[in-house]
Amino acid sequence: MKKYKVVLLSGDGIGPEISEVSKKILKKVSRKYSFEIEINEQLFGGIAYEKKGFPAPEETLDQCKISDAVLLACVGDIKYDSLPRELRPESGLLKLRSALNLFANIRPVKIRKSLIGSSTLKKEIVENVDLVVVRELIGGIYFGNPRGHITNTKVPKAFNTMVYDASEIERITNIAIKIANQRNKKICSVDKSNVLEVSQLWRDTVSNITSKDKNLSFSNMYVDNAAMQLVRDPSQFDVILTSNLFGDILSDLAAMLTGSIGMLPSASLNNNGPGVFEPVHGSAPDIAGKNIANPIAMLLSASMMLKIGLNESEAAENIENAIDRVLSRGFRTADLNNGSCQILSCSEIGEKIINEI
Ligand code: NAD
Repeated sequence: MKKYKVVLLSGDGIGPEISEVSKKILKKVSRKYSFEIEINEQLFGGIAYEKKGFPAPEETLDQCKISDAVLLACVGDIKYDSLPRELRPESGLLKLRSALNLFANIRPVKIRKSLIGSSTLKKEIVENVDLVVVRELIGGIYFGNPRGHITNTKVPKAFNTMVYDASEIERITNIAIKIANQRNKKICSVDKSNVLEVSQLWRDTVSNITSKDKNLSFSNMYVDNAAMQLVRDPSQFDVILTSNLFGDILSDLAAMLTGSIGMLPSASLNNNGPGVFEPVHGSAPDIAGKNIANPIAMLLSASMMLKIGLNESEAAENIENAIDRVLSRGFRTADLNNGSCQILSCSEIGEKIINEI
């Protein structure tokens, strides 16, 4: 029997609640498809800071490195906001991405038919949305140096550096091309090259590589226009390729097309070695501990992990179908309440989905 080692990082806020559902579903699906998943739970985020003094302890990173895949819930809480930056949970995320060299973040945004009414946008705008945001994850302004505060001035100053070299742009472009070729062969690269030198390098490099693949339909778009087009006519997009900062913002915007940020999974990958699979949303401290969080983004992340990370596509599909069946019968968590559905708690909707496996 095939056996996979998965590190589970439950993290903070709603993390433990949605992880509980994910563990159960992985257990059930692995039994059904005759493989074994050994779940190795490790401390990460604010909880790791409290217990070990660091948001990404070395032993957690070491276990992630020797795993087949990492399933992460979410981290963060306002109570950690006054800590020095390197001790905050979000810094742990950056450290994990860096340690595993996860340069490619893949965020599929697909509207589920039963949820069209839950989007804040009109049905005819969102009904055909099926796009993927391919975001560069370990470069750009989030990692660029120099960065810091200047305190010896009259008025306090702070600064960051947005920097890319062509090789970083090339490797993420190649991932976008691979994904586009498995889909509708259409890439839109998003930048701000009318203002930023780093974006001009991005545009030149991406255009140079994509022009060699004659099967691709390729376009460029400024990030401000892309934000507007995502709410005006989102179905024009197939693969959106963009840098770390722009991808962070645009993928949350795209998330809302689906009705709730509680529905969106993501995968962070490198060219070899374990990937990290996680919901797009944060730790939702406002609803943590109430058993009302939507576990579906994490379940879809577990499904992406099975498909991309562990090559268990049938099991992955089974999870997706189970989710669709439960949603189409009108069961929802509170974030997707449209007034005409039955609202269930996190654990209750989890049970319904598990029963469909
Ligand atoms: P958030 O995504 O946690 O929450 C935004 C809103 O969406 C909140 O109203 C929340 O209740 C709701 N929401 C999010 N996930 C949900 C779910 N599964 N079900 C139902 N509702 C859900 O973003 P935020 O409030 O800006 O950040 C909260 C904390 O999370 C911060 O500390 C932030 O730094 C951190 N964060 C972590 C990650 C991550 O772990 N990858 C990502 C983003 C933010």
